[in-house]
Amino acid sequence: MKVYNTLTRKKEEFIPIEPGKVKMYSCGPTVYNFFHIGNARPFIVFDVLRRYLEYRGMEVTFVQNFTDIDDKVIKKANEEGVTYDVIADRYIKEYFTDAGGLGIHPATVHPRATENIGEIIDIISGLVEKGYAYQSGGDVYYRTRAFKEYGKLSHQPLEELEAGARIDVSEHKEDPMDFALWKAAKPGEPSWDSPWGKGRPGWHIECSAMARRYLGETIDIHSGGIDLCFPHHENEIAQSEALSGKPFAHYWMHNAFLNIDNQKMSKSLGNFFTVREAAESYGYDAIRFFMLSAHYRSPLNYSREQLEQARAGLSRIYSALDNLRFLQQNAAAGEMTEDERQSTQTFDGWRSKFCEAMDDDLNTADAVSVIFELVRAVNTVAARPDVTAAYAQAALAILSELCGVLGIEKPEEQGADDSEIEALIEQRQTARKNRDFKEADRIRDELKARGIVLEDTPQGVKWHRA
Ligand code: AMP
Ligand code: ZN
Repeated sequence: MKVYNTLTRKKEEFIPIEPGKVKMYSCGPTVYNFFHIGNARPFIVFDVLRRYLEYRGMEVTFVQNFTDIDDKVIKKANEEGVTYDVIADRYIKEYFTDAGGLGIHPATVHPRATENIGEIIDIISGLVEKGYAYQSGGDVYYRTRAFKEYGKLSHQPLEELEAGARIDVSEHKEDPMDFALWKAAKPGEPSWDSPWGKGRPGWHIECSAMARRYLGETIDIHSGGIDLCFPHHENEIAQSEALSGKPFAHYWMHNAFLNIDNQKMSKSLGNFFTVREAAESYGYDAIRFFMLSAHYRSPLNYSREQLEQARAGLSRIYSALDNLRFLQQNAAAGEMTEDERQSTQTFDGWRSKFCEAMDDDLNTADAVSVIFELVRAVNTVAARPDVTAAYAQAALAILSELCGVLGIEKPEEQGADDSEIEALIEQRQTARKNRDFKEADRIRDELKARGIVLEDTPQGVKWHRA
């Protein structure tokens, strides 16, 4: 598999440190609010990367943190008159609700910054000892100029980064480009004991600490949105590599922005939709499918039309899957026909095409096209009156396999009781057999009122939700 590495600005063959094992770290959300569709993009994209690596037989250890202490969390807590952890707990819970809805598998570990204060202090102490960090008042800063490779991820020298950055000037810093590793406690803010007095960690240090604790000094893949490249990831590299003297991550992967009206969706601009809101309109599965319709390094524009298109695309896939499931139960038993056998002989080819797309820097857009082509091919064979259950089963297996890699799964229809609907369909069949057409029509109308559409096929009655 080839992946685009921001560090080298090239597509490179992905070679894990230890064959068959992958260590992956992705920057997670700051938990002070529901997450928006822009935030959902890295969560979905890197969930797909993880699923694909696992599909290709690798064992993936995936760490995604929760930033549970920062200015925004504290502000929200103060507004509500509660402690920071009440806010963090609430939005971590909401994260799992939305992430679950989006079909994002839980990471191997979801550590919180505040559970890793010991590790953070340990790293800062090491940096101070080595001369990469200094105490100033109750703060500790990273001495950016001491790390000669600073800027290697952004491919810009320190001077240019400095000119372009909005720098937090402080009289405590030796240099405007230095950044806080530890912040002295302020009144009304949560704080922890440290060798520099009471305080709390800066943002960048938490990822260096959690990556080291859960994955080790050198990891395979570090990922996040492109906005994190500078300064966050640049600072993570400076912290981790200055301390260990080893490369921090071999591959740096960044997703492009999710835009709205061609502007980055962000909380600070106020132009965002939460995943929760969008899911109410289109369904979680359509949001996921929409994200996969573009390559992760291409900007993606959020619009009603795009989401509706995703919904329609998903319906095509779902109805193919439903149809195959139905035929598997109800179509003719016995050997496949010659046409069917020929069709199944093309399945390996579809799988290879799918993998070829995914191997090319996770080209989910092309992988989705392969699924649509497969759906079309399978639908044609499955529409024949002599279709066999054996064919349906084989087609269902390949289609489910490829959909599963992307996490395309029909959500459980909540509140629906399928057995009750099937019982009503049975009753209608009996009524028809007894030529009680009035009763049969009554049941059909009742089902219709419940949003159930019936279809008579050579293999029996099929139903779906409208
Ligand atoms: P945050 O909670 O702001 O730290 O963001 C969590 C993740 O979402 C990070 O990986 C960000 O890079 C990413 N992110 C935020 N906004 C967008 C956006 N509009 N498009 C794509 N990724 C984004
Ligand atoms: Zn991070």
